[in-house]
Amino acid sequence: MDFKQYITIVEDYPKEGIRFKDITTLMQNGQVYKAAIQELGKYASELDVDVIVGPEARGFVVGCPLAVEMEKGFVPVRKAGKLPREVLSVDYGLEYGKDSLTIHKDSITKGQKVLITDDLLATGGTIEATIKMVEELGGVVVGIAFLIELSYLNGRDRLSQYNTFSLVTY
Ligand code: AMP
Repeated sequence: MDFKQYITIVEDYPKEGIRFKDITTLMQNGQVYKAAIQELGKYASELDVDVIVGPEARGFVVGCPLAVEMEKGFVPVRKAGKLPREVLSVDYGLEYGKDSLTIHKDSITKGQKVLITDDLLATGGTIEATIKMVEELGGVVVGIAFLIELSYLNGRDRLSQYNTFSLVTY
């Protein structure tokens, strides 16, 4: 299936010079959304996965349906202040300034095999922070799955020691 035709490119959003990849038009089509998740499921079926981890919000859009399809649990990574129990927190760099991501401390057990999901790999900063948290909790990252990869930003270089898959590449 040509998934690219269902992704809308929005010029200059959220600011000038950015070509925003809008996946909501893919999600609106139930058959295409399902097919996309199934393709990621094929990749994941080659791995030994215990649990799926994804950062908010679009990591949920990919990770939750995949977790249900694989009958695995899903662990959310969220911005600071959103998770109700004890969290591990990691700061990560944004284009301007810093932000932090959090994960429940008891959500991953030592040695658990983790598949990380997100909608899009840009610079890789978000996923790098997610990996750091998973590993600090003792998890083993066995794979990372994206719907979209922006290869010109070279985010994959930062993930070179991990098994990485993306459905479409720009
Ligand atoms: P990064 O940490 O740079 O890999 O990107 C983090 C997140 O920003 C991605 O997971 C996307 O949700 C979002 N993002 C970055 N660039 C784009 C883009 N061109 N179009 C849509 N989303 C983007």
